[in-house]
Amino acid sequence: MLDIKNLHVKLEDEDKQILKGVDLKVEAGKVHAIMGPNGSGKSTLSYVLSGRAGYEVTDGTATLDGEDILGMEPEERAAIGMFLAFQYPVEIPGVGNMTFLRTAANAQRKARGEPELSAADFLKLVREKAKTLQIDADMLKRPVNVGFSGGEKKRNEILQMAMLEPRMCILDETDSGLDVDAMKLVSDGVNALRDEGRGFLVITHYQRLLDHIKPDVVHIMSDGRIIKTGGPELALEVEKNGYADLKSEVA
Ligand code: ADP
Ligand code: MG
Ligand code: MG
Repeated sequence: MLDIKNLHVKLEDEDKQILKGVDLKVEAGKVHAIMGPNGSGKSTLSYVLSGRAGYEVTDGTATLDGEDILGMEPEERAAIGMFLAFQYPVEIPGVGNMTFLRTAANAQRKARGEPELSAADFLKLVREKAKTLQIDADMLKRPVNVGFSGGEKKRNEILQMAMLEPRMCILDETDSGLDVDAMKLVSDGVNALRDEGRGFLVITHYQRLLDHIKPDVVHIMSDGRIIKTGGPELALEVEKNGYADLKSEVA
């Protein structure tokens, strides 16, 4: 479904190569995790897939269901079902959370050729999903993420994801800054969305998130490349021995 080949990315206005040939395939129904030390390019990969400005693809391709996503505008990527939950969710002053969710969910439905949700159906759905993420009515009324705590922002990202029902979900360090209870909520939210038609790429610094969101495949990224791929046991190995061992082993 998501197919990344030989992806090379540099900063647009600096001579700095960040991704140096990433190869990665995420199949529908699978959860892939990417782990790796700080500064290895994990967030850059998620930014480039989302279409954020400031990065230049110098080589390689990325497709979703065979469609080239790198040439698309960010909203076109969303329309074909890409969803990204960022390490640092953005605040959108002046736009109510509920309005945002409704507009985004209906745009997504339209792109899929489904009818829009009625106001009543939308309200019922958003309340139900918000409840499982312990997001209260007040948070739904406030502007998107403005003044939300770190944990509230992350839960709100998962609510967006649940409302949009994307094909391919990419989560960048959704566990960072979360306490144990919030991490459980977020993980439960992700697990509830696991489905044979949907793929996940879960980027995380620590193994602990993967105790809750059990990945099918684990990749280790280091210095802009995937240096090792394995099963869930690879995450445990990293937790035990650190990245340094792995790097020298691969070298
Ligand atoms: P990770 O998410 O794995 O910690 P990042 O993708 O955030 O890694 O960063 C990879 C490398 O690229 C780091 O050395 C980082 O400092 C650098 N980098 C990323 N974006 C920028 C930027 N906009 N300006 C300068 N350096 C950047
Ligand atoms: Mg980092
Ligand atoms: Mg990062």
